Amino acid sequence: TKLKIGLLFGGKSGEHQVSITSARAIALGFSVEENREKYEVIPLYIDQAGNWWGKEVAEGILKSGEPKPVEKDTKKNWHFPEECGEIEVFFPILHGPNGEDGTVQGLLTLMEVPFVGAGVLGSAVGMDKIAMKNAFACAGLPQVKYIAVNRSEIFSSPCVFPKVCDRLEAELGYPCFVKPANLGSSVGISKAKNRAELEKALDEAANLDRRVIVEAGVKAREVECAVLGNDNPSASVVGEITYNADFYDYTTKYTDGLASLIIPADIPNNISETIREMAIKAFLAVDSRGLSRVDFFYIPETGEVLINEINTLPGFTALSMYPKLWEASGIGFPQLLDKLITLAQNN
Ligand code: ATP
Ligand code: MG
Ligand code: MG
Ligand code: MG
Repeated sequence: TKLKIGLLFGGKSGEHQVSITSARAIALGFSVEENREKYEVIPLYIDQAGNWWGKEVAEGILKSGEPKPVEKDTKKNWHFPEECGEIEVFFPILHGPNGEDGTVQGLLTLMEVPFVGAGVLGSAVGMDKIAMKNAFACAGLPQVKYIAVNRSEIFSSPCVFPKVCDRLEAELGYPCFVKPANLGSSVGISKAKNRAELEKALDEAANLDRRVIVEAGVKAREVECAVLGNDNPSASVVGEITYNADFYDYTTKYTDGLASLIIPADIPNNISETIREMAIKAFLAVDSRGLSRVDFFYIPETGEVLINEINTLPGFTALSMYPKLWEASGIGFPQLLDKLITLAQNN
C-alpha cells in the first residue's frame, strides 16, 4: 500500500502564490514512476482567508495554478477536510507567517502525524530574524551588526523616537536595512540611506510586525546553500544570485528575468567550503530539520563570508534555488522529495 502524503499549500500569507507554484512542482515530482509506486499525494489547500479545503478543491487549484477567490475575513469556524485523518506524512509547503513560523508545525505536532521540515522551535527561531541572529551569534557565526527595535519604540512619543533613530544611526550608519522580523520574500524591507528614509522605513516595518530589526548594510555578492538532513545534515554546492537592482527586493525576486541563479557559484573552493560548513552550523543553531536554505553575503575584497538568514521552508518551484542546488549536487527533484519524506518519518 502507498504512503499517504498530505501536501499542504496556499496559506494566509503574502507568499500564497509562491506556495501554489511550489506545490504544483512537488505534486509533479511525486507523479514520476519511482515515487508514484510508493506515495499517494492528497493535496490540501488553505485559502487566503485561512479556510482549509480538501482534495477536490486543492486538485483544482493545482491544475489552474490560480488561488481560490475569497472575500476578505470570511474565515469560518475551524473545519478540517475529512481527508486529514488519513494522512501519514504531511508535507507543508507554506511560506511566511502562519506556515513557516511554527504555527502549522504546532498543529501537526498536536495531531501526532510526522511532517516534512523543521518543528515548532526551528520554524519559529528560523522565522524571527532577531531570534535567528541571536542563535547565530551564540553559534559563533559571523554576521552584520544588527539592533532589534520594538513597535512600541517606533510608535512612541516624539521625544523617544528620535533617540531610537540616533542610536541606530550612530551604531549602524548608512546604508542600513530595516526589516519586519517575521516576514519573507523581502516584504516590508527597506534600504535606508539617510535619516528621513530610516524614519519612513521603521514606520513601514512596524506596521507589518511588532518586532523590527535594523542591520548595517554590506556591499557583497549574494550566495546561498541548501541543507538536507536531520541531526547529521548535508550541504549542497553553493549558488549565487545576480540581479540588476538596488537590492534583492520583492519585484526582483518574482519578476521573470530580473534575477539569475548561477550554480555552482564562481567562487574560490575554500570559500564555498566555508559557506557549506556555516550553512550546517546555522541549520543546527536554530534546530531546523529536513530542509533549509541558508543565505550569505560574500565580500570578495576581504574574503569575508557573513551569514544573512535561514529559510526553513524555502521556495520549492522547479526553478527555485533549493531544488536546483540539490540537482547540481546529484539529487534530482523526485529523489529529493523521497529523501524528505524519509527524513520526516525518522525525525
Ligand atoms: P527571503 O525571500 O530570502 O526569505 P527575506 O524577506 O527573509 O528574504 P532577507 O534575505 O533578509 O529577506 O533580505 C532580502 C534582501 O535584502 C537580501 O537578499 C539582500 O539583497 C538585501 N539585504 C538584506 N540585508 C542586507 C544587509 N544587511 N546588507 C546588504 N543587503 C541586505
Ligand atoms: Mg527569509
Ligand atoms: Mg522566506
Ligand atoms: Mg533571503
